[in-house]
Amino acid sequence: MAPAKSAALISGKELSEAIVREVGEEVASLKSKDIHPGLAVVLVGSDPASQVYVRNKRRTCDALGIRSFAFDLPENCTEKRLLTLVTKLNADPAVNGILVQVPLPKHINEQKVLNAIDPIKDVDGFHPMNVGKLLNGEPSFVPCTPAGCQEMLMRSGNDPAGKHVVVLGRSNIVGKPIAALLMQKGKGGDATVTVCHSRTQNLEAITKQADILIAAIGIPLFVKANMVKSGVVVIDVGINRIPDASKASGTRLVGDVDFDTVSKKAKAITPVPGGVGLMTIAMLMKNTVRAVKLQRRMKL
Ligand code: NAD
Repeated sequence: MAPAKSAALISGKELSEAIVREVGEEVASLKSKDIHPGLAVVLVGSDPASQVYVRNKRRTCDALGIRSFAFDLPENCTEKRLLTLVTKLNADPAVNGILVQVPLPKHINEQKVLNAIDPIKDVDGFHPMNVGKLLNGEPSFVPCTPAGCQEMLMRSGNDPAGKHVVVLGRSNIVGKPIAALLMQKGKGGDATVTVCHSRTQNLEAITKQADILIAAIGIPLFVKANMVKSGVVVIDVGINRIPDASKASGTRLVGDVDFDTVSKKAKAITPVPGGVGLMTIAMLMKNTVRAVKLQRRMKL
């Protein structure tokens, strides 16, 4: 019997580096016109995963020459204090983009804070006006992780047009916007999208129909080989830390997909780490430059 073939790896590292290079050229061109893009990244509390994400976002800004304004607020910060900061950033002309890292501590109404961000500085694309625009097919800011997934598909030669895309997860930050993005008419869209969630029945029967499977549920190694068909393209959004005694830290990162078994059946697959996570940061940089251009009514 011929050995099972392994899937092509869709490398978030390679693709995100390409996007960051492209954004770097745009930043340089803006700077030559004395325009200096700025991104405010607000972190509330000390959630370890959020701290890592925020650090990486700020580092990438520095590497690209995007000014990054850091605001680290304590866990017990009041909603009022956070809203006051957002209002100040909305009014600051040096700040083109505002990112408030989610999740926020439970005592703060997350949607209220996201709603307070000026939609033209909303580089995460979570403001209801930008969510609505995405659904209407006139995107202003597309949320970074969904935009990163779409770029991974397009740049790896796996155009979703006409394909059956099954999305696992219906969160506002990943599942729903990915579905909205890939079902749009036109380039990067035109897919037939099915969204599955925790109440979906006969999940396996649905995932097996997927030409492209996007997993965003937050359960480590949930998708097994028996849940996919041969030749599927898999985008694994999940980032989960599980115990691993062989590592010095005692843990390791895995996705929502059981990479070792699924990769033997798939046509192409993203790794974790080194996959969608890196694309999310690259798309944030892209959205920050987009914010500058929208605010100055420049050609996009
Ligand atoms: P969430 O907890 O908000 O949503 C999880 C979704 O999964 C829910 O809609 C739920 O209905 C669905 N779900 C739960 N159990 C299910 C099951 N058994 N079958 C089908 N669906 C089920 O999570 P989220 O914020 O969307 O994040 C999902 C994962 O993606 C997490 O691991 C998170 O860390 C990761 N994430 C990664 C990035 C990135 O940049 N790569 C960005 C955001 C989130």
